[in-house]
Amino acid sequence: MRRKGLAIMAVQTVAASTESSVDLGPAAALSCRECGERFALGPLFACATCFGPLEVAYDLPTGSPDELKKRIEAGPDNIWRYAPLLPVPADVADKPNINPGFTKLVKADNLARELGVTGGLYVKDDSGNPTHSFKDRVVAIAVEAARAFGFTTLSCSSTGNLAGAVGAAAARAGLRSCVFIPHDLEQGKVVMAAVYGGELVGIEGNYDDVNRFCSELIGDPLGEGWGFVNVNLRPYYGEGSKTLAYEICEQLGWRLPDQIVIPIASGSQLTKIDKGLQELIKLGLVEDKPYRIFGAQAEGCSPVSTAFKAGHDVVRPQKPNTIAKSLAIGNPADGPYVLDIARRTGGAVEDVNDEQVVDAIKLLARTEGIFAETAGGVTVGVTKKLIEAGLLDPSLSTVILNTGDGLKTLDAVAATSQATATIRPSLDAFRAAGLGTS
Ligand SMILES: *Cc1c(COP(=O)(O)O)cnc(C)c1O
Repeated sequence: MRRKGLAIMAVQTVAASTESSVDLGPAAALSCRECGERFALGPLFACATCFGPLEVAYDLPTGSPDELKKRIEAGPDNIWRYAPLLPVPADVADKPNINPGFTKLVKADNLARELGVTGGLYVKDDSGNPTHSFKDRVVAIAVEAARAFGFTTLSCSSTGNLAGAVGAAAARAGLRSCVFIPHDLEQGKVVMAAVYGGELVGIEGNYDDVNRFCSELIGDPLGEGWGFVNVNLRPYYGEGSKTLAYEICEQLGWRLPDQIVIPIASGSQLTKIDKGLQELIKLGLVEDKPYRIFGAQAEGCSPVSTAFKAGHDVVRPQKPNTIAKSLAIGNPADGPYVLDIARRTGGAVEDVNDEQVVDAIKLLARTEGIFAETAGGVTVGVTKKLIEAGLLDPSLSTVILNTGDGLKTLDAVAATSQATATIRPSLDAFRAAGLGTS
């Protein structure tokens, strides 16, 4: 209890001065998403006045949009091309980091035909990142914040992909890592998190238990000097997802798509993609026109889509039970903001069951040669369902996110994706089995 009191005092001291002494480029301060109060840049995540979540406030570049576009286009082929819009020092590209981003935006004509989309369908394929999920984007930003605040250990509570991204980024940056996951994750996620050599701890419980454990660890002397990328570094971490918005628009020729479908775990990614699109409009890098944001969940963990469909503003926690484990957060921190964004933009939040997730993984693989993890199956499955329900307009340009790699969730499709036949190495056997003709 004594330590908690000290922590609150420390927050208030920082609050007294909004002058920031660390160099995180254009990041000027942290501001409360609820009451707007500003705080100096630091490892804070909740407002000292109203406990609302904090986010990064910027001194965004002034000058002509064309100049800024040119500057971005001349930058590296990774997220650091957007450094003028991110909480990172100007020389970020020279520091050891995993340098994620600028993943492919695939024009998915085969899938479009299958789904009846005529306005242009694209898959933003983030399985191409260094540890094969979108989490490399958020972690790369958190590493720079950790460095700026002098943290020596990088940590997180994870549904799997984040643990791998933190392990890799810490290894590269020369930081220690200790990451926490639910004990029962897919083998691909566990191995991928362990191989980088940091500590990996399985917690007996679900993600929400892991997260609660991490909050306790932050308040304990054991956790001193630790940067938890999605807890005390969360405001910075979240900003990494803006780069998805930037890349999609740049890859479309500096144009906004009409519709985007985004998977939801905590909801951070979805809310920050919206923030990124708003910034591009404000900076004059894209035309100011309406866009719709859709959220995708698995039926077995659908607190946000349940609230959306019931017309509620409050998200009621659920106990997750789904094969889409990377999305299995029963109490999503950004849930209410996701509801706001879906409603404000004329989008929706929908969910699909595990069988539909598997079908959708195979649909994307069969049509576009992209092998998505279960989260990608959720997004493709929900897109199909939204079109069938008339909620997503097939005559408009649509981008769907594949946030992870199917190699990490092989079990989802292993039972139904096997060799067509096993034969002796002879043409007779091949012919006799009736193969090679379909
Ligand atoms: C973490 C994760 C998400 C969702 O992230 P949030 O920002 O927490 O909503 C989506 N897809 C994959 C593969 C993930 O690992």
